[in-house]
Amino acid sequence: SSSQRADSVVVIGLGRFGGAVADSLARLGHDVLGIDENPDLVQTWADTLTHVVQADATNADVLRRLGVGEFGRAVVGIGSDVEASVLTVLALEEIGVTDIWAKAISTKHGRILERTGAHHVVYPEAAMGERVAHLVTGKMIDFI
Ligand code: ATP
Repeated sequence: SSSQRADSVVVIGLGRFGGAVADSLARLGHDVLGIDENPDLVQTWADTLTHVVQADATNADVLRRLGVGEFGRAVVGIGSDVEASVLTVLALEEIGVTDIWAKAISTKHGRILERTGAHHVVYPEAAMGERVAHLVTGKMIDFI
């Protein structure tokens, strides 16, 4: 059940975004299971995260076998491969993850993710662009 791993998070896709999320979670003391299909990235993150595995996250059976269903929360950092991003959210939904966060690279991608079962959709470039606009005009106080 998800309560077994209440303080744990699965991060799928350890690129620039997913890597930053996973690293921050690890620094905050959370158990992090990182998943990426790229063996070089698995190697890179092996010493930082609690567990890192090489796997295709679009496959629900693979995720189930890795125990991902026991995690309450998942972050999907796959972006430019929209098909893989959507299929991964579907697989997470299918195995019963109840708090799915997913990165979108466009508003269309975000709409698909919402309809697919993502509970939270984030737009890193848009969000950071907004922050920078406030920063450069000296109006950061409300935005930290
Ligand atoms: P970023 O900007 O955060 O670096 P991106 O938007 O360019 O990422 P991608 O390169 O598509 O996104 O994906 C990020 C990571 O997700 C990559 O490290 C990639 O290997 C991994 N990834 C992509 N598809 C899958 C998959 N099906 N299963 C597991 N990992 C995947």
